[in-house]
Amino acid sequence: MSRMSHARYRNFEDPVSAIEIDENYNSYNEEDRRQFKCIFCNSQVQFSRGKSHDDPHFKNWPNTNHKDGCCVPNAEKQRNTFSGDVDLEVLVSTILPRSMRLDTPNTPPSVSRGKRAKRFGGKTTQKFIYQIKNLLDSKNKFNIKPEYEDLKLLVEDGKQVSIKDIIKTQDEIIDIIDQSNGNEVICILRGNTSRPYKRGSNYVIPMTKGKNPEYKNSKSFNLFISYEYVEKNTNLVDEIKNSLIICYGIAEKTKYGYQMELYSIKNQVEILKQFKKIEI
Ligand SMILES: [Zn+2]
Repeated sequence: MSRMSHARYRNFEDPVSAIEIDENYNSYNEEDRRQFKCIFCNSQVQFSRGKSHDDPHFKNWPNTNHKDGCCVPNAEKQRNTFSGDVDLEVLVSTILPRSMRLDTPNTPPSVSRGKRAKRFGGKTTQKFIYQIKNLLDSKNKFNIKPEYEDLKLLVEDGKQVSIKDIIKTQDEIIDIIDQSNGNEVICILRGNTSRPYKRGSNYVIPMTKGKNPEYKNSKSFNLFISYEYVEKNTNLVDEIKNSLIICYGIAEKTKYGYQMELYSIKNQVEILKQFKKIEI
């Protein structure tokens, strides 16, 4: 069952996001709620707030399929072509929000931290990043398992992206941001964390730097937790230090340097490997 982050509403040109609908749920009456359509094929879709009201998304309208040729069912068909121990359902039925997509004329100028937190800090992200971890081979440097190399994920604009193209090292992410004139980019960061420290009331977790070209970590990059989300994450900050991790979110350039903001360590980060260091 596909899970879409956006849908078309009535005849409005710009898609609406499930998060926006959730925030204004009571202003949509029953008839309004029948007016959501797939952004790709215009078939009717249904808004859902998620099991615990914390996972808003659009799904198929009961007994209504997407039209032939729609990229949503096409992406889902991959479930039948890959086999292994990964829950492909989660990966092929999740439509990534603007993954790897840079600003377009239709991109809203700025999205509030609260909205970003809902989009990237929620349970959908947790399920997604956990399955991404399952695609990686712990016995082979956490490279993508060969059987999944051709798996593609559907992005909000209908394109499909390879897993390897959304998992990036810090140097690769910085290059993308720089080439796009300092825009932000949605991606999965892969790298090693070092020790966290406090900047004012915020937390900063720097990624380690090194000169080995294989690791592509020669430039400074931080994970950042704003004071508003520190309390929720306090106990987990120490758990992800000195680790090889993957982390899903928005990477951007700020006045403090390049960073990816964390709203929920539990939901955005998966540890691949921990390095035991003696700390003095
Ligand atoms: Zn469709």
